[in-house]
Amino acid sequence: MNVKMPIYQCTCGQSLLIVPDISEMEKAIRAHLVEHKKITGEALTEIDLTEKVIACLNDALGEESLQDQVSHA
Ligand SMILES: [Zn+2]
Repeated sequence: MNVKMPIYQCTCGQSLLIVPDISEMEKAIRAHLVEHKKITGEALTEIDLTEKVIACLNDALGEESLQDQVSHA
């Protein structure tokens, strides 16, 4: 189990480490909702942030498999 976990870079400038543990991830997401509100003054919903984190995870996984074949221009 030596998988490098990706980091979600939020629009507010903070980064969120993506962990392979659902309850830890939920905690991190909820904690970030509070941080995000403090930083931007804008409320983000848990569903919104979760979807963004999942999209980021998919991107990271997709990129990793692509890196074997192509390099970024
Ligand atoms: Zn944020």
